[in-house]
Amino acid sequence: MTQPIFMVGVRGCGKTTVGQVLAEVLGYTFTDTDEMLWQLTGKTVSEIVAEEGWAGFRTRESDILTRITQEHTVVATGGGIILSAVNRNFMRTRGTVVYLHASEQELSRRLQAYPEEDKRPSLTGKPLIEEIAEVLASREKLYQETAHCALDASQTPDDVVYAILHQLDPSAAS
Ligand code: ADP
Ligand code: MG
Repeated sequence: MTQPIFMVGVRGCGKTTVGQVLAEVLGYTFTDTDEMLWQLTGKTVSEIVAEEGWAGFRTRESDILTRITQEHTVVATGGGIILSAVNRNFMRTRGTVVYLHASEQELSRRLQAYPEEDKRPSLTGKPLIEEIAEVLASREKLYQETAHCALDASQTPDDVVYAILHQLDPSAAS
């Protein structure tokens, strides 16, 4: 397998954490659309959204996605990448899309435990658990239909990676 692997799911599901381990195991390069935004603009997602709005951020994100996609690469995406049909189609046809799902309780626990790692602005302005539930409900179908496989992300990162490898190639991870 040489195709890029795209990690999708809501913020906090572990796209960056699991994606890094997966890349290491496969000997792939790891890239992250949020991190690339920072490298290219010197700005966080929050700063871009404050200056250019969500639409401006989404345009930059789509551009970054196409630029960083290469063979032998694991790409951790932003949670909203699947909102664009162009992005969904691009990821599905160019590589393998892996959806990490976790309950709203688990996601809320992680985001509260590590608030400093979450540089994304609120999408709704509502309390965290409500916002997570709302975002999950509105995007679940898009994550599912874009992904080639879906994994329970509440396991340890190593176990999630093992499960991904098994789904991608059942004969390889025994
Ligand atoms: P994403 O990139 O999807 O927004 P991160 O990889 O940044 O998510 O993870 C968000 C937080 O949750 C981080 O603090 C990370 O250490 C923690 N985390 C990620 N995956 C797991 C996991 N499988 N089990 C426990 N904590 C995790
Ligand atoms: Mg991330």
